[in-house]
Amino acid sequence: MKEIQTVWPVGVKKTKPRACVLSVLEHAESPLSAMDIYSRIEKDTSTVWLSTIYRILELFVEKGVVVKTTVMNNEMAIYELNHYQHKHYAVCVSCRKIVAMNNCPMEKFVPKLADNGFHVLGHKVEMYGYCKECDPNP
Ligand SMILES: [Zn+2]
Ligand SMILES: [Zn+2]
Repeated sequence: MKEIQTVWPVGVKKTKPRACVLSVLEHAESPLSAMDIYSRIEKDTSTVWLSTIYRILELFVEKGVVVKTTVMNNEMAIYELNHYQHKHYAVCVSCRKIVAMNNCPMEKFVPKLADNGFHVLGHKVEMYGYCKECDPNP
């Protein structure tokens, strides 16, 4: 594994498990669940419990280094490094594979709000369906 390039969050004590979690996220090609991160951490270095990983992730989310997205009606949470650009994902209802969407369906959307002075900061879009391996009606 390469060295961590991400700026370490201010006010967070650097510990081995925390560095491991950040490193795994840095090398991930798609968002990962806590379980995925758990399975990718090299177990020989130190004993890291799944509950510890959840705590570390919550801390990183709080510090703004990691973004948490919930999918499948909040049943599952996935994590990725905060690249300061928003992304949307489609989830396969069969194998739960997560596929990144290359566009945003809300890009040109102008929300009609009763309070016209409402300042929109962001949005969430959830897509679900079958991936190409699971599609019963391709
Ligand atoms: Zn699938
Ligand atoms: Zn969007």
